[in-house]
Amino acid sequence: MRQKGSCVVVVGCQWGDEGKGKVVDVLAEDADIVARYQGGANAGHTVHVGDDPFILHQIPSGILHDGKRCLLGNGVVLDIQQFFEEYDALAARGVALEGRIGVSRRAQLLLPYHKLLDQAVECAAVEKIGTTGRGIGPAYEDKAGRRGVRVIDLNDAERLHTRVAAAKERVCRRLDELGAGATRTLDEAMDQALGLGTRLLALATDTGPEISAALAAGSRVLLEGAQGTALDLDHGTYPFVTSSNTTAAAAATGTGIGPTAIDEVVGVVKAYTTRVGEGPLPTAFEEGMDQRVRELGSEFGATTGRPRRCGWFDSVLTRFAAQVNGLTGLAVTKLDVLDTLDEVRIATAYRMPDGTVTERFPADTLSLGRVEPVYETLPGWGTPTSQVRRLEDLPRNARVYLHRIEELSGAPVQWVSVGTRRSQIILVG
Ligand code: GDP
Repeated sequence: MRQKGSCVVVVGCQWGDEGKGKVVDVLAEDADIVARYQGGANAGHTVHVGDDPFILHQIPSGILHDGKRCLLGNGVVLDIQQFFEEYDALAARGVALEGRIGVSRRAQLLLPYHKLLDQAVECAAVEKIGTTGRGIGPAYEDKAGRRGVRVIDLNDAERLHTRVAAAKERVCRRLDELGAGATRTLDEAMDQALGLGTRLLALATDTGPEISAALAAGSRVLLEGAQGTALDLDHGTYPFVTSSNTTAAAAATGTGIGPTAIDEVVGVVKAYTTRVGEGPLPTAFEEGMDQRVRELGSEFGATTGRPRRCGWFDSVLTRFAAQVNGLTGLAVTKLDVLDTLDEVRIATAYRMPDGTVTERFPADTLSLGRVEPVYETLPGWGTPTSQVRRLEDLPRNARVYLHRIEELSGAPVQWVSVGTRRSQIILVG
């Protein structure tokens, strides 16, 4: 099918929480379709419309723009109850939803037993991953184990019953082994979840053919990633990663289009680095600075409220992200958070535990926890940037900093975000 429209992927290039929601929200203005391709309710996008914060876990943030079609691709794991809570909350706040949301028939259902299992496994684990406890890992395990329940299965009561009964039995056995017998409320929760099946089927679609047809007809499509490159199941800091592929290639698999349909890949990076959950953060700040930037940037998780660890910008990671995602551009967010710092640093390489210096992001997560970053230090700008709307109006030192990020990462900076609001964005060039 010849493609007349355009297809852009937005992908996080650090450990998630890069401000993808804000960037997608801005880019969605020019899109006709916005689709999610992986993850589940563990993603928490905070988008500000005026002064109103909206936290969206599963529904693409494009929903806050009138008339856009929002899709959940086959690559997501869908928590039905949470999905409809979000749906109803949006409706209650006056967002028109009729005909605007589609869910892939091939998407996996995340059911109450996945959550119970997630929490019990993490609780019993010696080496904790720092999961959000929302059942994402177990749901993807079921998918890979070919035991999952998909949206389309809701259509066939008998098949659904067989699959769910087998899953419940398996999960209850495992919970017993883990000494977590909290299955009393499971039947009730399952009834509630599956009771929403008919409502969900009314939204079912085939996302791949729908997106391909829209592209052929000239539509503009935005594919929205959740989490970030360093949390990718294959390319991230394994095992401290999420259970899906977060990187750009997954946007094709996770929605059902071919990779050649993708025209551009925008990588979102914070002007510094944060990480929530367990696992190494090579450029972590010293304690005082950590607290200062956490407060300046309100670095607390949108889904769990957990404080995020903060650190300097890591170009070793973003260079890797540019390569693995095939980035065509960067969106740098939260530049304003650094406005009051005397100096800013960028990690350009890592000194490995054996003394060698590398500019490559290592596969060995264990040694990543022991590397010493090699820093380049630049002067701060000491001027508020949140009112700036043109690159040339940014303080010179801020422009130098952005230029260095671009050079070291190997992708051009196309957007700079300087505040939480839609309007607080600079379009470069
Ligand atoms: P996401 O999951 O990648 O969308 O990231 P989160 O929503 O978890 O975190 C981003 C947070 O940063 C949200 O509260 C945004 O409103 C906020 N944010 C996004 N861009 C900017 C910015 O340029 N400056 C400031 N100060 N906050 C921003």
